[in-house]
Amino acid sequence: MGRVATVNQIIPFSCVDGPGSRLVIFLQGCNFNCKNCHNPYTIDMCDSCGDCVATCPVNALSLNLDKQGKSKIVWDSDKCTQCDICLSTCPKQSSPKIRQYSVEQMLELIRRQVHFINGITVSGGEATLQLPFIIELFQAIKASDDLSHLSCMIDSNGYLTEGGWQQVMPYLDGAMIDLKSWQEHTHRYITGRDNHRVFSSLKLLAAEGKLYEIRLLYIPKISDIDSEVNAIAGYLTQLPDSVRVKLNAFQHHGVTGEARLWDTCSEQQMLELAARLTERGVGNLVLPNVYL
Ligand code: SF4
Ligand code: SF4
Repeated sequence: MGRVATVNQIIPFSCVDGPGSRLVIFLQGCNFNCKNCHNPYTIDMCDSCGDCVATCPVNALSLNLDKQGKSKIVWDSDKCTQCDICLSTCPKQSSPKIRQYSVEQMLELIRRQVHFINGITVSGGEATLQLPFIIELFQAIKASDDLSHLSCMIDSNGYLTEGGWQQVMPYLDGAMIDLKSWQEHTHRYITGRDNHRVFSSLKLLAAEGKLYEIRLLYIPKISDIDSEVNAIAGYLTQLPDSVRVKLNAFQHHGVTGEARLWDTCSEQQMLELAARLTERGVGNLVLPNVYL
């Protein structure tokens, strides 16, 4: 069957995940553990423990044995009402509503949408944890007469190594990279990881002309944007003019744990931040459409 991906969700049409209209593939699994994560059930891989089975009110979940005799969670999407009780039951940060797709199956799905989209975006979780699948998929798209016009983009936390980026670079049209904090210790506090590789990824992608967008997260009193605004603006103004600078306002939607107690970011706070960056020469700013 070739390379297979573990997929949390596929959105056939999106206009906020890269340029134009795009099919977006959300892969399961992440190497960050962000306190502010809006989709924490995408972080871990399901280990088929079965804890969620009995909690499903419509019996859409069952535990079967696979060919090797190992337990395997089975999700019946026809029965599922998307109540998400299983997500709140899961002791990990996972979901039983996960599917495996081969490259061929994904191409078939993309072909069904091809007349309505400009490209595809692979997101997550952290997309690049399943890099071999992404490379095969992008290669196949670029080699297909009927799909090669589609742009292939990655939405990433930027933690991929330079070697990884170099492997996918020939087939990559652009990347959206999150910079969740400027200072290493704040980044580590929010995500559980340092931000050295994030800066390396940004530098490499910018040099290759493949950095479509950098995303800055603003969490009032937690982010270091206020104290580091001069350094951040200096950094942003050195990026190519074409790079979009997207400001993300922290909200509580989907968030669990201590981050539920953090202040959310208002439109006024976003506008003030945007003004401070603009005063310091940062252009190409993109602000949120909604504050929920
Ligand atoms: S989201 Fe679907 S599978 Fe999960 S508990 Fe609700 S009905 Fe069951
Ligand atoms: S989704 Fe969570 S609770 Fe359900 S089987 Fe997988 S690991 Fe267990």
